[in-house]
Amino acid sequence: MEALKEHTIAFSGLADGAHEFQFTLEPEFYAAAGDEDLEGGQMTVDVKLEKSSTLLVVNIHLKGTLALHCDRCDGPLDFPIDGKQQQIYRLTGQEEFEDDELVSLDSHAHSINLTHYIYECLRLALPIRHVHPAGQCDPEVEQVLNKMEVEHDPHPDPRWEVLKDLKDKQQ
Ligand SMILES: [Zn+2]
Repeated sequence: MEALKEHTIAFSGLADGAHEFQFTLEPEFYAAAGDEDLEGGQMTVDVKLEKSSTLLVVNIHLKGTLALHCDRCDGPLDFPIDGKQQQIYRLTGQEEFEDDELVSLDSHAHSINLTHYIYECLRLALPIRHVHPAGQCDPEVEQVLNKMEVEHDPHPDPRWEVLKDLKDKQQ
């Protein structure tokens, strides 16, 4: 996603050693993500940056609640998120080497931007299916869903059958 300037850290002026930063994810972040799951929320991002002459080690810790919709009843759901991610930058200027966790920075680089990694961390911390805790779905929808489940009982979801088979084999 597009880099937001508030997530830029100018490291060139920092002394070697540990530094801490904190961000709050603003509405612009959710808008820029263009991700239907990310409508908003109360999220803080703690960043610990360890600088040495050759490396920047960045630890991102995301914590808070996302404002989602429940996958079961479609009602509003404040979903707790706690995610961590590490990103390492090499300051040696060898651009050809790059993988997911280790990025080589150009020797002229003086800042890094974390928007992409914050988004990645948030996505990884968010389960595919997010629902209310048992019994806390919208009661009206719950009633309809329960009725449907009873009616559908003779033909269960084939995926559950596969899981059941696996479970039977393990026993
Ligand atoms: Zn629900």
